[in-house]
Amino acid sequence: MSAGDDLTRIAKGEILSDGWSRKVYSVDASHYVVIPSVIVCPQDQYDIEDICKYCFSKNIPITARGAGTSLLGQSLSDNIVIDCTKHMNKVIEIGDDYVIVQPGVVKGVLDMELKSKGKFLPPDPASSNYCTIGGMIANNSSGAHCLGYGNTIDFLQEIHVVYSDGNSGSLCNMSNSVANKKFNNAANERLMKNLFNLLSSYSDTIQKQYPKVTKNSCGYRLDAVINDEGFSPQKIFAASEGTLGIVTCAKMRIMDIPLYRHLIVLGFEDLLSALYVVPLILQFFPIALEMLDHTVFSGAENKQKLSDDKSIGCLLFVEFAGDKMTYVERNVDLFKSKLSDRCNIIESATDEQSMIRIWRARKSALNHVMKLTFGRRKPIGLIEDTVVNPNLLHDYAQYLQQKYIQDKLDFVMYGHVGDGNLHTRPLIDMDSKSEIELIERLAHEVFNKVIRAGGTITGEHGDGLARVKYIKYMYGNKIFSLFREIKTLFDPKFIMNPGKKVIQSTS
Ligand SMILES: Cc1cc2nc3c(=O)[nH]c(=O)nc-3n(C[C@H](O)[C@H](O)[C@H](O)COP(=O)(O)OP(=O)(O)OC[C@H]3O[C@@H](n4cnc5c(N)ncnc54)[C@H](O)[C@@H]3O)c2cc1C
Repeated sequence: MSAGDDLTRIAKGEILSDGWSRKVYSVDASHYVVIPSVIVCPQDQYDIEDICKYCFSKNIPITARGAGTSLLGQSLSDNIVIDCTKHMNKVIEIGDDYVIVQPGVVKGVLDMELKSKGKFLPPDPASSNYCTIGGMIANNSSGAHCLGYGNTIDFLQEIHVVYSDGNSGSLCNMSNSVANKKFNNAANERLMKNLFNLLSSYSDTIQKQYPKVTKNSCGYRLDAVINDEGFSPQKIFAASEGTLGIVTCAKMRIMDIPLYRHLIVLGFEDLLSALYVVPLILQFFPIALEMLDHTVFSGAENKQKLSDDKSIGCLLFVEFAGDKMTYVERNVDLFKSKLSDRCNIIESATDEQSMIRIWRARKSALNHVMKLTFGRRKPIGLIEDTVVNPNLLHDYAQYLQQKYIQDKLDFVMYGHVGDGNLHTRPLIDMDSKSEIELIERLAHEVFNKVIRAGGTITGEHGDGLARVKYIKYMYGNKIFSLFREIKTLFDPKFIMNPGKKVIQSTS
């Protein structure tokens, strides 16, 4: 009997093993294609527990999947894929400052429900209309407004997870004395105590080795687990790409929608003159500071919606918000007077419809970049998500531009520049061996530069298949062997989304 037949007996949800379904699930938003053997759409947490028990007993790999919008291949598997979007997609409870959701709920759907109550969950990936909360947690996703409010990891209060052996547990903030904490089962208690002891013994190394940046999705986020609030084991699931367990429920902190917002679009002659003023703009504490270079908007409809001025080569989108209009407007006036001789103020909007229209231009950047694919010549995402301190961003972007010019590569640049998070892709012919070697060499050089500058190789998109080999390079041997110990604690048989984060050693 095949795994598909066994799963039909075990799970209440649908089991898909026909050729068409396997083809549909063989792709995400990366350039990889990996065909799964079976797809399961679990009805509930108990289905996931039973599937995990079965897979654990037979050593069969399991990969959870949300909407499959990941950019580096993290939701792909040649084995069992668990799709939480079909049945496990409910908003369970909305409180005054929290929401409890199942992992398959689409962020855009949640946004609408929260908005009707005057609330919001700030991380806002440009893929919000499709991506799920489970995928956002597992990638530690961000978005334009994370500058002002924080990333997914910062909103993660509690999760319920199913581990590789089918056991489950709830993880939430606890004080530093794990010894006094009540756990829902002995296995979970043992796991949490081991995790706490392990991380406590490495706290100095973690403190020293992690990048000092505002967003990071590389490796496991051990730096966030023992923090000012004590022990927050749920945070180890942020950016873990489904390699430690499957999230079946999450409690996220939510916020009140600010009463007043003001969005300004600034036009600059070129990218470098725009990035030069980023540190100055940050002194005014915007909640969003985004960049769109002409390499993305030239030829597209985006720029025409915002400006017809041909001398403008780069746009910055700056948003301010607060509950007091007078306070926000005073800040905006000061901001405009400081910036007015350095750029053109193209738009200044305070009404919701105009802001939606303007943000749409920025949000569709990656969609437009994807359309630059011509045959096997593609905008390849490998160095597309680095973060450096925003004060270093101008010099870093100049370095990248020079590299592209030296290597005669066409490229695009845009990103969350307030966080120092630059999205850039060279156009690479995937049939050309020399161009593939070129991007590998470029990645090595660029990552080296970023790491030496105290940054991270991925701020929000994660490691997936494409960057897994660079994780060790990013953190060094000590932290990487700690990752291996942690993976072994949670997933001793290495069956949870194998090939991502930490690969089982063959020796
Ligand atoms: C056009 C476009 C724009 C984008 N813009 C942004 C952006 O602005 N900011 C940003 O941060 N990202 C962005 N992304 C990347 C991507 O959309 C996000 O990472 C998104 O949150 C992934 O969600 P998903 O539901 O598609 O997850 P998937 O791709 O399906 O899965 C992502 C990871 O989550 C794991 N996973 C899924 N569900 C669970 C679960 N229940 N338990 C454990 N693990 C689970 C999977 O195994 C996988 O490792 C963009 C992508 C596209 C295509």
